[in-house]
Amino acid sequence: MRVLRFFDPWKGELCTCPPKYTLNPYTGCAHRCLYCYISSFIPRAFEVREKPPFFSALIKDLRECDKSLYLSLSNSSDPYPPVERERGITQKVLELCRSEGMPVLILTKSPLVLRDAGLLSKMQAVVSMTVTTPDRAKAQLLEPGAPSPQERLHACALLAQRGIPVVLRIDPIIPGINDSPEEWLQLLKEAAPYAKQIIASTLKLRWDTAKRLSRVFPKFQKTLPFYSEKRGNSLYLERRIRFTLLSSLREIVHSFSLPFSTCREGFLELNDCKCDGSEFLNQ
Ligand code: SF4
Repeated sequence: MRVLRFFDPWKGELCTCPPKYTLNPYTGCAHRCLYCYISSFIPRAFEVREKPPFFSALIKDLRECDKSLYLSLSNSSDPYPPVERERGITQKVLELCRSEGMPVLILTKSPLVLRDAGLLSKMQAVVSMTVTTPDRAKAQLLEPGAPSPQERLHACALLAQRGIPVVLRIDPIIPGINDSPEEWLQLLKEAAPYAKQIIASTLKLRWDTAKRLSRVFPKFQKTLPFYSEKRGNSLYLERRIRFTLLSSLREIVHSFSLPFSTCREGFLELNDCKCDGSEFLNQ
């Protein structure tokens, strides 16, 4: 494989993802989320750049790879940065996946995914939309380069109307910032009519993430001592806190009769189905 890679989040022992491929059509991400971890390993992380041409290598990889798996698009950058409007690189990747019969799981925070609804409705695809808070002003602080939560949720509703399975990611949950049950309830009220599943994860803290969050949300510093569980290069919240947070969200999700799962938490008992939304690839 030259372009497609097996998804392996740093051999994360808590990752429960089914085997899958991953591809980032762009390097860097324009959303500039304060909590983003890519700045710890990608230089100029919040500057979107095109990669050297890769389509011919991708065609070869797609012909040779295992089609019983699927492609996660993408894990270290959003596949729909603003420049995608003109460049259409993600769109071309989707066209190739469709013609080669490769199922695709799209992870995004951009309503630009709607542009490709026609294509997605004709292939095996799931859209996983991340919304961390329904509060527009807070989202603007947390994810200054990303479209508003309302635009994202509206796009989800329209995708679902076109028959494309949509799952909602509330990720990351950051205590003191976006862990209020009222906010979760608001998100669920919006998303429940069309979402197939809710996925959640708590913040996995890195040094530069902590600096950015503390600068914009000074109260974040008070919660720093609770990030005491070292896992790889990240600090997790204490297990007890993570379990309590995720269990309360799960209860709210169940009150809407939706399945719930956690991501990289080690709480298999909280997962009602596959952890990443791929459960719905065959629908
Ligand atoms: S959308 Fe994801 S990759 Fe992009 S800045 Fe936000 S957290 Fe990082």
